Amino acid sequence: MKAIIFSKALYSTWVYYSPDRILFDCGEGVSTILENKVFAIKHVFLSHGHADHISGLMGLINIRNNAMGDHEKELRVYYPAGSFFVSELISYFGRTNRNLQYELEWIPLKPGDRVTLLSGRHPRYIEAFATVHVRGEPSLGYNVCEVRRRLKPEYRDLSQEEIVALVRAGKKEEISETYVQYLFSYGGDSVPLNPTLVQGTEVLLHEATFVDDEDRKEYKHSTVWEAIDVAKKAGVQKELILFHLSSRYRWDLDKVEQKIAELQLPFRVRIIPPGEVVEIE
Ligand SMILES: [Zn+2]
Repeated sequence: MKAIIFSKALYSTWVYYSPDRILFDCGEGVSTILENKVFAIKHVFLSHGHADHISGLMGLINIRNNAMGDHEKELRVYYPAGSFFVSELISYFGRTNRNLQYELEWIPLKPGDRVTLLSGRHPRYIEAFATVHVRGEPSLGYNVCEVRRRLKPEYRDLSQEEIVALVRAGKKEEISETYVQYLFSYGGDSVPLNPTLVQGTEVLLHEATFVDDEDRKEYKHSTVWEAIDVAKKAGVQKELILFHLSSRYRWDLDKVEQKIAELQLPFRVRIIPPGEVVEIE
């Protein structure tokens, strides 16, 4: 299992990404569904401070203190710097949770900020990027980034023996270069993302509150077709996951999926039906 996703626009959105024990957003119901898996969460990354993305924090913070599990594990919650709603919540939790057994840390982030997840041979980190949602409430998306090494282009046509010979001759550093691969990109609530910010990602989670443009009154969310366009421009490698759908489309998804299939896209497209818990392998 790689991720568990729940998303229904206006009601609740949360995504548990298990490889790095991250919860992206924290809408209501998350602890009820994840149960004891809440103790596995190390980091919570909030995209913005609207209720459907933060209303599960009260439950999560308390259940980590009370349920059967390791009550001493630290929990770090990252949020867009300057978020009025999150700041108010932080002061509420400060006043009402004086007896937490674990350390709860709140960390504001700005676009471009990085958070280390793993060090070692293939370091991993989160990089925050700017999204565009509503005026007055800052919003962020997040890339899970992995630092990898590969042969420089001029050495890629060499045979295995030639490469081994160069490595034995102590030229390993000289013939290779590091690059950053985005493994998972979470867009939060936004109008179409800037594709360059999620370029080449393996899996893109893009919101698609609306199917068609006619259904949208204010320009603060994306449509299915806009999200697909972003994924094409970004060169998504494996999968586009459309989430944050309005519940009005609950019974219409077959038609949308059929239309998407006709596009013959080079990546898989998966729609998270509003109100369903979906496990991604
Ligand atoms: Zn939302």
